[in-house]
Amino acid sequence: MDTERKLEILADAAKYDASCSSSGSARPAQPGGIGNGAVGGICHSWSADGRCVSLLKVLLSNACTYDCAYCVNRRSNDVPRAGFEPGELVRLVMDFYKRNYIEGVFLSSGVVGCPDATMERLIGVARTLRVQERWNGYLHLKAIPGAASELVTEAARWADRVSVNIELPSAASLERVAPDKTPKAIFGVMRTLARASGFEPRRLLPERRSLPAAAEPAWKDLPAVSGSAAEPTPAYDIGPAAESRRSVMAARKDRRRDPASAVLPAGQTTQLVVGASPESDAAILTLAENLYLAYDVRRVYYSAFVPAGTDTRVPVLPGPPLLREHRLYQADWLFRFYGFRADEILSPERPDLDQDLDPKCAWALRNLGRFPVDVNRADYLELLRVPGIGPRSASRIVKARAHARLKPESLRSLGVVMKRAAFFVTCSGVAPNVPDTARRASPDASYARAALTDGARAMLAPLQLELDWEGDHA
Ligand code: SF4
Repeated sequence: MDTERKLEILADAAKYDASCSSSGSARPAQPGGIGNGAVGGICHSWSADGRCVSLLKVLLSNACTYDCAYCVNRRSNDVPRAGFEPGELVRLVMDFYKRNYIEGVFLSSGVVGCPDATMERLIGVARTLRVQERWNGYLHLKAIPGAASELVTEAARWADRVSVNIELPSAASLERVAPDKTPKAIFGVMRTLARASGFEPRRLLPERRSLPAAAEPAWKDLPAVSGSAAEPTPAYDIGPAAESRRSVMAARKDRRRDPASAVLPAGQTTQLVVGASPESDAAILTLAENLYLAYDVRRVYYSAFVPAGTDTRVPVLPGPPLLREHRLYQADWLFRFYGFRADEILSPERPDLDQDLDPKCAWALRNLGRFPVDVNRADYLELLRVPGIGPRSASRIVKARAHARLKPESLRSLGVVMKRAAFFVTCSGVAPNVPDTARRASPDASYARAALTDGARAMLAPLQLELDWEGDHA
């Protein structure tokens, strides 16, 4: 098999991994033109300072001895298999880099033989690139669950970022859908990565570890596998020391790392598959919050399950649950930049995110007693909780009001999205212009709810159809 064909197979097999913030394109080359948006393997990622960089996203091998039901590379799936020799991949990377096709590499692999052997091959590529080729580009390596901690530590030494995917949000689902993996194998690697980057993994308060049983509804569409679908799925037990009750944002601020740190400067990340198992949004968000606090995970990615194939361990869905994935990303944003906690966003009584409202608007409508917020008096964190006010506009408000009292008409120029904020703020008692009659007519906030519905459902519907048709990630 020639290198081009291998690249085609192995780049295609890598595209389902969302943990490098990538996006793809299906635009083919035009006759007589130059460039091809569909060339296998090159995708885009965003650096810490917001630049978009191109990455070669590829597997070392798509032959896998494991059989995870959601994965196209599972051993029971009948797909063409290929693998690079480490030296062959190093040459390809250097070739692409010198031609300016790529600025970095995302490298993963199916489990070939055993976790240690696979990890050694991945490290072999990384070490050769760094030492022999003196290559200094961005490198994201995938760690293999169950690999020895010495190998994981060495991977952390060569890579900018290492990720290990949890995929299933509970131990019970992991056992059913990915029976070759264990929580110990996954979280052991995460602990090693945290330690390699100078962070001692922690245990969380009990209320953060245990998922409420009511947040685990029976899932009617799930095929009956030993009757387990209707049982509550136990939370992962992830760590040995205590973490005080703080928001992810506050904890992150306390341990801001040196960006020039030689070990894992871009930290560790992970991915959770959404929709391949019955866990609620509350279960997924509680786990994500735990990961941010307990392992200093830099980013949790949510990947809508792409129903492709006939494995009976995963449900038959009309298409990938993209709207749910979108809402989870919005809720995740609230942890990391707005000071929210998971138990404020969802609870046992309300285990799933509202599909029509972004999670911040939904929270505000449930907590109308906290509003309106006076923008001339509220502190920074209170301002952050107002729909339509983000970190940048909250900072601008705090600075601007030191010089003059703010009026409703000045908020828009400070970056406040008045379409949302108008319902929730006053300026020293003066409310922005929301039609009073409409306000009076809906004491239950139904007018505000209708006005705040963001249209994501309508926006994602055509994409959903396209994905159904193509059976592919975008
Ligand atoms: S270990 Fe599981 S998720 Fe990873 S490549 Fe193999 S089958 Fe896919």
